[in-house]
Amino acid sequence: MEHFAYRNFELCCERVSLPALAADVGTPAYVYSKAALLESLLAYERAFAGVPHVVCYAVKANSNLGVLGTLAKAGAGADIASGGELYRALRAGIPPKKILFAGPGKTREEMRDALKADILMFNVESAGELRVLDAVAREMGVRAPVALRVNPDVDPQTHPYIATGLKSAKFGVPLAEAVATYEEAARLSGLEVVGVQMHIGSQLTRTAPWADAVARLAALVRTLRERTIDIRVVDVGGGLGIRYREETPPTHAEYATVLLPVLRELGVTVLVEPGRSIAGNAGVLLTRVLYRKDAGAKRFVIVDAAMNDLIRPALYDAWHEIRPVDEARLGGPVETVDVVGPVCESGDFLAKDRRLAAAEEGDLLAVMSAGAYGFAMSSNYNTRPRAVEVLVDGSGYTIVRRRETYEDLVAGETIL
Ligand SMILES: *Cc1c(COP(=O)(O)O)cnc(C)c1O
Repeated sequence: MEHFAYRNFELCCERVSLPALAADVGTPAYVYSKAALLESLLAYERAFAGVPHVVCYAVKANSNLGVLGTLAKAGAGADIASGGELYRALRAGIPPKKILFAGPGKTREEMRDALKADILMFNVESAGELRVLDAVAREMGVRAPVALRVNPDVDPQTHPYIATGLKSAKFGVPLAEAVATYEEAARLSGLEVVGVQMHIGSQLTRTAPWADAVARLAALVRTLRERTIDIRVVDVGGGLGIRYREETPPTHAEYATVLLPVLRELGVTVLVEPGRSIAGNAGVLLTRVLYRKDAGAKRFVIVDAAMNDLIRPALYDAWHEIRPVDEARLGGPVETVDVVGPVCESGDFLAKDRRLAAAEEGDLLAVMSAGAYGFAMSSNYNTRPRAVEVLVDGSGYTIVRRRETYEDLVAGETIL
């Protein structure tokens, strides 16, 4: 997270001082670094430069139009999981021919919208979905380009909620059924079979599961080619982990090195769907200390951000580094605290039993590595307006989503 560093004793995002930013836009605030976003995208571009490829950013990680537009301008495609994400990707200027549509529950309406937009590919997750997509495409007089999401049954060794490539997962078609499902797809005249896809999990910190999975996928591609089903595209999914604490995930280059020999031999176009590894370390959640509270057995630091703003600690037991924005605090006393929000739930915490530089009321804290699955998973629980989002570029910044107002929160509701 080198784009977030102390200058003149204040934590900055690029060249913008976070205390100055907080004074201007308020807290809680999500703050993103444009340079960090582009750096990771370009690292993928470089790592896969040796093969035809498209980096399809997984929109669900951070779907802000300012973020998407920045990535679109730098050449990114999009991996979308809903009609809403299709709308965002198109609004942000991502070319339709760089958009992939993923997810196990696409509706007919979403399929129609994506066919109308003429996207690159549908990643289909079941035989039932294949038949519906075929029918929708034929009604429209077009052919839908498809890949089957194959479940390679490998253990990605990550949190169970984000492990998706095991036999027991709801995702994809089991490898054992893949050939039969492809043969059915090849017979459907509304479909054009172009590829195979996998996505084995998220926050992966070892390359071995990918090596296993891509070898299984390559064997499938060869079998399909023997049966005259010509696979031209292999989509290896997303999932590259980031450093939250002491993880040492592979670099973009190490990740590509594991996949590329197999893919090059197949002579395919390679698609990657990174989300977290692009946005995660490009953002922080900036929050202010409201109160300190000593409850005898425990000490609490109560801040103005809560589980509705960042649910990862409550949902996945995720660990986010918390830094004082005032660097001078680092020279002072240290204490063990729970950092909690104002929401009426015991699960409303950002950190538990954490050794932190003692923070006083009014202090700013930065919850690090919050650029992915942060704002995107936020809610209005407790009728809390969602935070403002700011995109920093050098010494300037843009409010890319204004803080919600109370009016926003009741818009669309009716009193009888
Ligand atoms: C969530 C998801 C991704 C992105 O995963 P990251 O771990 O954020 O890189 C990519 N592809 C699919 C199908 C997904 O569901």
